[in-house]
Amino acid sequence: LNFVSAGEWVDPDKQRLQEQLDAAEKKAKSIQEVRTSLPIYQYKEQFLDALADHQVLIVCAETGSGKTTQLPQYLLDYFNKEGGTSLRIACTQPRRVAAMSVAQRVSEEMGCRLGQEVGYSIRFEDKTSPNTKIQFLTDGLLLRQFLNDPTLSGYNAIIIDEAHERTLATDILMGMIKDVGKYRTDLKIIISSATLDAQKFSQFYNDSPILMIPGRSYPITIYYSQNPEASYLSAAITTVLQIHCSMKDPGDILVFLTGQDEIEAGKQSIEETVRKLGSKIPELVVCPIYSALPQEEQGKIFLPAPPGGRKVILATNIAETSLTVDGVRFVIDSGYSKENVYNPSTGLEQLVVTPISRASSSQRAGRAGRTGPGSCFRLWTRWSHFNELEESTTPEIQRANLSSTLLLLKSIGINDLLNFDFMDPPSATAIAKALEELYSLGALDSTGSLTRVGRQMSELPIDPKLSKTIILADTHQCLEEILTIVAMLGESSALFFAPKDKRLHAEAAKRRFYTRGGGDHVAYLKIFNSWSEAEYDPLWAKENYLQQKALTRARDVREQLQKLCERIGITPSSCGDSNYIPIVKALVAGYFSNAARLNRDGKSHTVLRNGLSVRIHPSSMCHEPTEVPKWCIFSELRLTSQEFIANIVDIDPQWLIDAAPYAFKKADLEKFGIDKKMPKTRPAQAK
Ligand code: ADP
Ligand code: MG
Repeated sequence: LNFVSAGEWVDPDKQRLQEQLDAAEKKAKSIQEVRTSLPIYQYKEQFLDALADHQVLIVCAETGSGKTTQLPQYLLDYFNKEGGTSLRIACTQPRRVAAMSVAQRVSEEMGCRLGQEVGYSIRFEDKTSPNTKIQFLTDGLLLRQFLNDPTLSGYNAIIIDEAHERTLATDILMGMIKDVGKYRTDLKIIISSATLDAQKFSQFYNDSPILMIPGRSYPITIYYSQNPEASYLSAAITTVLQIHCSMKDPGDILVFLTGQDEIEAGKQSIEETVRKLGSKIPELVVCPIYSALPQEEQGKIFLPAPPGGRKVILATNIAETSLTVDGVRFVIDSGYSKENVYNPSTGLEQLVVTPISRASSSQRAGRAGRTGPGSCFRLWTRWSHFNELEESTTPEIQRANLSSTLLLLKSIGINDLLNFDFMDPPSATAIAKALEELYSLGALDSTGSLTRVGRQMSELPIDPKLSKTIILADTHQCLEEILTIVAMLGESSALFFAPKDKRLHAEAAKRRFYTRGGGDHVAYLKIFNSWSEAEYDPLWAKENYLQQKALTRARDVREQLQKLCERIGITPSSCGDSNYIPIVKALVAGYFSNAARLNRDGKSHTVLRNGLSVRIHPSSMCHEPTEVPKWCIFSELRLTSQEFIANIVDIDPQWLIDAAPYAFKKADLEKFGIDKKMPKTRPAQAK
C-alpha cells in the first residue's frame, strides 16, 4: 500500500482556498483602481452632466466597459448630490445569473453586504431590504412590478441593461417605461447596450442623446474550421486540449456551448483527459457557468487560474455580453445557442439549439481580446459564416409565445395590444394565437376582457398553463399536491443523477417512485413527499440518486408559490398522493392543448391539436414499453434529433372534454377511437 505521511499531505482544496483568500485580499485593495481604470470611468462626468439635462440617455459601450457595475453607482452619486431621501435604482438583466453575480460584485465594490444597499431580485428569490438603493433584477420581474406599482413610484431611475439582447420582457419594458416617463418626469431612464444599435433606441425615445463610449480591445485572430464539424462538442473539447497543451502563451479559455448537459459532459471529458495526462501538462481548471448552476459555484469563474496553470470556462451565451471574465485570451465558439422558439402553427414552444448570428459571433470573439491580443476558434467554416449565418438575431418578441406576456399586460390594464408602442411589433397572428390560448384557458372572456380566473392567473409568475393548473387544483381539492408538482417540474432536468457505473441502480431507484397511471408528475410528487418524510436529508437524496440542490430549490419555489396562492385567496387543500385522479384532472385543465394519443404502431403519439407525431423521451418514466400511455398530456416538448415529449401523465380522454368542452368534442375524440380502440385507459383501471 502507498501511504502519504500526514505531515506532507496538503489538501489541494485548502491550498486553493488560501490562494483564493490571498487573491481576494489583493482584490479588495485594488477595487478602486479597477473602477477607475474601466473605460466608462472617463465618461463619468459627461454622463452626470447629461443626466441633469435629459430624462432618457442611451449608453453604448463594449462588453466589459463597466456599464452594468458602474452606471448604477454613478446614478447613486447623482441622486445623492441632489439630496434625495428615499432612493432606489433598478438595473434590469435578461438573465438571473447575471443579476445575482453583478449584485455580488457591486456590493463588494461598495463595501456592503449583499442584500443591504445592493441587492437583487429574481423570480422566487428576493435579496433586497428596505435599505436597498441599487437593485438588480430580471427584466421579467420589473415588468411584474407594474401590477402593484403602475408608475414605478418606488424607483428614481431605471436602467434597462443589455438592451441589445432584445428579450421579450426588455422590449415590452421599453414601451411601458416610455409611457411612464411621460407622467414621471423625475424618473431617469438609461438604456444600456453593448452593440451599435444605439440609433434605434434613441429614435424610439424621441431622439434621446447617445453616450458612445469607445471600447478598448486588442487584435483578435479568427480561425475557422476547415471542414464542417460532425460534433461541435467534441471539436470544442479537442481544441481546448490542443490550446492548453501546445500554446505557450498564458491566458484562459472561454468555450461557448448551448446548455447544462453539454457543459457538464464537456467538463467531465476534459477532466478525464487531463487526469490521464497527469503531470505531463500544466494544471487546467474547468469552470462551468449556466443558469441552473448553484450560486456557490457561479462565483468560481472569476477566481484566478492556478499559478502556471490555466482556466477554461465552459459557458452558455450568458458569457457573450452579460458576464465578463478578465484574462480570457482564447475563445472557442460552437456557433450555437439554445433559443426559446415558438411555432405559432403548432402552438408549441420549445428550446431549440439554433445557429447564432454573425453579430453574436463577433461579440463572442470580442471576449478574447480584453487583456491582450487573442484568438477565436470558430467551429464552423468560413463559407458557412458568410453564407449561412444570419446577420443579427431576431428579437424574441417576434418568435416567442406571447400568452404569458399578454396576460400580464391585460392585467396591468393594457388592452389595445395592436396599438402598443413596440419597438418591433410582433405579428398579428402571434398576438391572435396568444389571445386564443388565453381564451381557451378561461383567462379571457369572449370580448377579450380579463376574467376573474385570468386575474388570479396573472398574479402567478409562471406559464399560464401552470397557473391555470394551480387554480383548478382548488376546484379539485389538491392544491398541496399540484404546488409540489409545479415546483418539481421546474427542476425536472436537474433532479436525477446517474453515475456511469451505477446506471442500473439509479434507474431502479427512480422506478420506485413511479405508479402506473401517475406518470412523471405523480412520481415527482412521491419523490418530494418521501424526501420531506426523510426530513430533507441530503443522504436520503444521495441514496436515491437525486440531487439535493434541485430538491431544495423545488422546496423554495413551492414555498413562494404557496404564499402567492394565499395572497390571491386560494386555500390549501390536499388529496394525498395515492388518489391521484384529482391531480391529473387539474393538470389536464392547464395542459389539455398538450394532449396526445398513441398511434397504431404502439410507439409514437400524435398531438391532438395539430397532428404532430412525437415520441416519448427516454428520460420519462412512461418510456418503458409496458408503461406507454394510450392517452396522455405532456408538459414539455423537446427537439433533438426528433420531436420528443417529456413529463408525461396518463389521462382519460373524457377529462379533455370536461376541461375544455369547446376544444374537444366527443365525436372528434371518437374519430381517434376513444370508444372503439381504447375503451378503458389506465387511470380508470388504477382506482
Ligand atoms: P459591462 O456591463 O460594460 O459589460 P461590467 O460592468 O459587467 O461591464 O464589468 C466591468 C468589469 O468588472 C469587467 O472587467 C469585469 O471583469 C469586472 N467584474 C464584473 N463582475 C465581476 C466579479 N464578480 N468578479 C470580478 N470582476 C468582475
Ligand atoms: Mg453588462
